[in-house]
Amino acid sequence: MQIPFDNTYANLPTHFHHMQGAEPVSNPALIVWNSDLARELGIVAEDKTEIAGVFSGNQTANGSAPLAQAYSGHQFGYFNPQLGDGRALLLGEVIDQSGTRFDIQLKGSGRTPFSRRGDGRAWLGPVLREYLVSEAMHAMDIPTTRALAAVSSGDPVYRETILPGAVLTRIARSHLRVGTFQYFAHRRDIEGLQTLFTYARDRHYPDAETPLDFLNCVIAAQARLIAKWMGIGFIHGVMNTDNCSISGETIDYGPCAFMDAYHPMCVFSSIDQQARYAYANQPDIIVWNMAQLATSMVPLMPDQQDSVKVFTEAIHAMPQMIQKEWITVFAAKLGVAEVTETDAQLARDLLNIAQNHDFDFTILFHSLTAQCKSITETENSDLNQWLTRWHAETTGRRDPDLMRQSNPAVIPRNHQVEAVITAAVNGDFDPFHAMLGAVTRPFETHVDYMAAPKPHQVVKATFCGT
Ligand code: AMP
Ligand code: MG
Repeated sequence: MQIPFDNTYANLPTHFHHMQGAEPVSNPALIVWNSDLARELGIVAEDKTEIAGVFSGNQTANGSAPLAQAYSGHQFGYFNPQLGDGRALLLGEVIDQSGTRFDIQLKGSGRTPFSRRGDGRAWLGPVLREYLVSEAMHAMDIPTTRALAAVSSGDPVYRETILPGAVLTRIARSHLRVGTFQYFAHRRDIEGLQTLFTYARDRHYPDAETPLDFLNCVIAAQARLIAKWMGIGFIHGVMNTDNCSISGETIDYGPCAFMDAYHPMCVFSSIDQQARYAYANQPDIIVWNMAQLATSMVPLMPDQQDSVKVFTEAIHAMPQMIQKEWITVFAAKLGVAEVTETDAQLARDLLNIAQNHDFDFTILFHSLTAQCKSITETENSDLNQWLTRWHAETTGRRDPDLMRQSNPAVIPRNHQVEAVITAAVNGDFDPFHAMLGAVTRPFETHVDYMAAPKPHQVVKATFCGT
């Protein structure tokens, strides 16, 4: 296997990471390989056996310097100083055809010093879920980590039951998180914090001259990201600061889910008892997370009192920035590129109607595209009135192409993800491959994947899979 590694994180001071190899697995077998992505990254593989060997962690490719990264994080609002890669290893970095640096990371690769009581493993379900959802997000033009490979390990994983183990290979612009900054700030390791800042700045926002510039870049990237999540009904489920990326990519697909029927307080994660990370809370939570980043960056500034003031201003500006991104996203869903305040009200009113009538979020917006040119009466008078208003208020401004690109026909629906996982656990991977084909072309019609769940199919809770 040829992987053009060009590693930088491994050269950071030793307390940034723990250098170690993966724990071997018994019987690695390739489930899926993202050959297009491999090509973009310049990875040349011989055959399935070799791919399964390298991306299970059993073989070390030339140039790889595997390591577990150290980080902290607020989990559900409570600070945990010692998280880190407890079931993941960074194999190294590569630079793609466009010149962008990417991490190659194994997830489920065994124990590290950061594993605490965990086994360092992943079972097949969360691996397939992350593969499907992250590739679907990418296809919907949402910044995200990606999936390069999934390999079954041949080993059992012990959760509430015995489940088949698997390893996911994740590609990210980096795995730097808000929690990475918190790690050094919490230890009052100002030198480490400075090193991290310089590294993160050079890698992600090279034009940022000051810590404040950098903070503003992260804020802007996250504001855009969260607005995009809202536009496709995505609920991340664990927006802890360790799952909040400095690059502005969606990262960590644990208990994530897409809304079926629209409800702002929609929440799926079984561990999110207080609905902290409900759909409509996401814009507030990201501001809270950025405040944690700002707090951990205060020691980087020469005048700390002044920095608290300017950082606070930056954080206070964020809700409006998210709102602006939100309006852009939802106006595009209504076919409008040049946004006015009436468009925002139109979008809000449509969401209210959706909430009152339990409309499926994805189907509602997708079906609007067909109504772009001329309205056909629906069975719902609220919706009919709204359609008439939409047509009147956006005359001459509606763009059907913009609508098509903004309103996916297909999302990875929870009940279908679950069905795919159940089949795979029983040895049948065909449903996984079929669904992957559909969700990675989300703006095309795939009738088998477009229906809302029937009442008995509705998934009410999702699980972290840890
Ligand atoms: P997550 O909820 O996936 O963001 O993980 C939070 C923390 O728990 C991270 O430090 C993970 O590395 C760690 N972790 C999660 N699952 C496991 C596991 N099965 N074994 C060891 N560590 C784990
Ligand atoms: Mg995580």
